[in-house]
Amino acid sequence: MPIQLFNTLTRKKEEFKPIKAGEVGIYTCGPTVYNYVHIGNLRTYIFEDILKRVFLYNSFKVRHVMNITDVGHLTGDADSGIDKMLLAAQREKKTAWDVAKFYTREFFKDTGRLNIIKADIVCKATEHIKEMIELIQRLEKKGLTYTAGGNVYYDISKFTDYGKLALLKPEDLKAGARVGVDANKKNPHDFVLWFTKSKFDEQEMKWESPWGKGYPGWHIECSAMSMKYLGEHFDIHCGGIDHIPVHHTNEIAQSEGATGKKWVNYWLHGEFLVLETGRMGKSLGNFITIQKLIDQGFGPLDYRYFCLNAHYRKQLTFTVDALEGAKNAFRRLKERYFEFRKSREKADKAKFKKYEDEFLEAVNNDLNMPQALAILWQVVDDSNLNGAEKRFLMEKFDEVLGLNLKNSKEEVVALSPEARKLIEEREKARKARDWKKSDELRNRLKEIGIQVLDTPEGQKWVAEK
Ligand code: AMP
Ligand code: ZN
Repeated sequence: MPIQLFNTLTRKKEEFKPIKAGEVGIYTCGPTVYNYVHIGNLRTYIFEDILKRVFLYNSFKVRHVMNITDVGHLTGDADSGIDKMLLAAQREKKTAWDVAKFYTREFFKDTGRLNIIKADIVCKATEHIKEMIELIQRLEKKGLTYTAGGNVYYDISKFTDYGKLALLKPEDLKAGARVGVDANKKNPHDFVLWFTKSKFDEQEMKWESPWGKGYPGWHIECSAMSMKYLGEHFDIHCGGIDHIPVHHTNEIAQSEGATGKKWVNYWLHGEFLVLETGRMGKSLGNFITIQKLIDQGFGPLDYRYFCLNAHYRKQLTFTVDALEGAKNAFRRLKERYFEFRKSREKADKAKFKKYEDEFLEAVNNDLNMPQALAILWQVVDDSNLNGAEKRFLMEKFDEVLGLNLKNSKEEVVALSPEARKLIEEREKARKARDWKKSDELRNRLKEIGIQVLDTPEGQKWVAEK
């Protein structure tokens, strides 16, 4: 069953054809490490993780590369504003290097909590300055650049395909100067490849270059590093939809401008997570982190489950109520899974091939995760399947869903030391057939929000809402 993906380049769902049979190269734009990631960013990383898992599920050899932006990304995408790293360094009274180190670590902590598989290659912009300079020199040799006011710019009028990803028309490109546009630019859509005259006196991150001491523009890192690790022509490039008109458009201009050939075959973009009040953004200051959700009593995987309920190309509105609903459904799913796990029956694979086929069809159909989840629930509720069969399918499907069912026991209730002690005591009391003590302990657990159920397999517990 072939994998079908919606390609932003053609605005069509297409059958995925790898450059090299059985292998796929994926580049995903990583975080700018000047702050924590918010759950909107994380929605995009979850979508990319699902994409990768679908390829693994289809037995592809996956090579996944992700960058870490630790220099050059200004607060305005069109080279306006201030370097985000510098902004954070000032805010936190640290060096930009320390800021980058701290938030990179936090990023991987958050993605780890969401069971997102780490990229095979994680590459930092600040460690690839040489590759970026070489790429700018290639562009310079091809006559695609100009220098003005001390900076090196990409001249989009020299690249005929400029704007093809965003379907920009010639009249869009001639449009008048956008707010805050740099007066050195010949065209408002030209963009900086290398800043030599920093507008920020305090900019710490600077390197020698053929054009003077300075630092790279934001887009060049993704072209330079993706081509270094995936080659000049590779399969898939992803990010959030906000990257279509500027960042990815400029990445294409740089890469194809330098090589003179097609760079990426499939472009995939995830829609935004929004709040009822509108957009959430790091710079807007209204962002929610995974830690904040944990502080409110949610598990990180509750959020992952929540995201799976919407197709990645549909906008998703976050509310605490909706997350609460996802949390409850996910808890029920885990409870059923534990029930099936105890089954001593034998699985008859012939009985559930239909479900395997349907699941594969759903995930291969442009990552239709709502459909995949619906199939999972059909399995759970199917009275013709025994526990062993259900367990087998749940674990298999979880290779794509990434809900970490196999290891989820501890997470059903993140037990406090006090609750753990009470549960252990109750276990002992039950073994000693001390029903009075056992009931007392059950009541004490109830007071701290833990409901204990006695089942033929022993006591089970769930957190009360
Ligand atoms: P940034 O660190 O700003 O470059 O963003 C990291 C990733 O998150 C990029 O792929 C963005 O497109 C994506 N992104 C930013 N805001 C949101 C949002 N509200 N919902 C989903 N993805 C987002
Ligand atoms: Zn990028």
